[in-house]
Amino acid sequence: MAFLFSPTARAFSDESLESYLLRIVSENFFDSYHQLSFAIREALHDLDFEAHGAFPLEIKLLNIYHAKHNSHFRMRALGLLESLLGLPRHELQKIALFKSNRTFIGRAVAVHRNGTDIPLSFIRSKHEGNIESLPVCPLCLFEEPYIRQEWHLKPYSVCVKHQCKLIHHCPACQSSINYIENESISQCLCGFDLSKASTNEAEKAELTLAQSLIERDLSSENVLLNQASLTHRYSALIWYQKRSCDSCSLGGAIEYFAQWPDNFYQELELLTQTAESKLIALFNRTPFRFIYGDLILNSRCLFPEDKELHFIHAALMHYLQRLVEENPKTKRPNVADMLVSVAEAAVILSTTHEQIYRLYQDGILTSSFKQKVRQRIEPHLGVFYLRQVIEYKNSFGIDWQGMYLSAW
Ligand SMILES: [Zn+2]
Ligand SMILES: [Zn+2]
Repeated sequence: MAFLFSPTARAFSDESLESYLLRIVSENFFDSYHQLSFAIREALHDLDFEAHGAFPLEIKLLNIYHAKHNSHFRMRALGLLESLLGLPRHELQKIALFKSNRTFIGRAVAVHRNGTDIPLSFIRSKHEGNIESLPVCPLCLFEEPYIRQEWHLKPYSVCVKHQCKLIHHCPACQSSINYIENESISQCLCGFDLSKASTNEAEKAELTLAQSLIERDLSSENVLLNQASLTHRYSALIWYQKRSCDSCSLGGAIEYFAQWPDNFYQELELLTQTAESKLIALFNRTPFRFIYGDLILNSRCLFPEDKELHFIHAALMHYLQRLVEENPKTKRPNVADMLVSVAEAAVILSTTHEQIYRLYQDGILTSSFKQKVRQRIEPHLGVFYLRQVIEYKNSFGIDWQGMYLSAW
């Protein structure tokens, strides 16, 4: 039973969920999203008492990842909405942004959309006080008036199709463009039709970056651009951002990855060469992170990991294996005797903290200092010798990935 008219144009695969709901608002002659959401709640009330309250009354809270808890109720509400609209199942779920169970570079939270994980920090959002704009491409709006999901991405600043800069401000009244705040896809509050706005040509570097956020470039030699997995490309970008500085733009990323991995190995080599001069204690008393910072933790580009290793993680593991090989154990401690933490060992061995504790209890990994009986090692304290962890990893073969001990 279709209770609402579904828009004449089906949801586009690159359309945002909010955009599609706004099209439902206008095609059903509601004045605002608020009216629609009220009507939807009423209808859902009879269908599913539990889920009806989960349907958000404000469009800016519509997407699933905004749900504070119990996002499964919201999923159910969305499923019910599909039936109210007479849409095929999962039509709306395909374009929704979900909370993801994965993390990028060890700790950055992610959202998930149709098979891809995206760092949450890449999604344009409202900052306290000032409204961040949600820019548009006037030429895209002219062709088909709906909001493209990629316009929500901070690193996406130009339109790949029309090779022009996205516009952030209304040319007539200069106010920030934000279709969610204004509840209008192609009209500014002042009445200006944004599809008529003029555009400026995009720069080459911006275009290449924007391109990397939507499609793979098979012909490119750049390791970032030719990665098959979009999720892997996103995690390389956030890794790059973390490495440069949190607020830095991603402008240099394309050039950086064009030199990969030689430039990465050179940076690491420089750290290794100068390590001894920075020491306060002997190598075998010094945590790895004292010299290399969060290098190992950040290299967990994705967790849980994919079957295919992330190229950044693979490059670092290759470097660490070589470091241990080239610095064999001698009487005098060397750089390969530095101490890694439970958290770092878990990244090197592609496993969980629990497994590392188990390897320790079983005597496979030994602590560099005496632990009190039954006391759990603090996960970020440097305790295991890098050499031992790498040698243990190598004992499974160079490409081994996964669990080292059974959980029972
Ligand atoms: Zn465009
Ligand atoms: Zn305006």
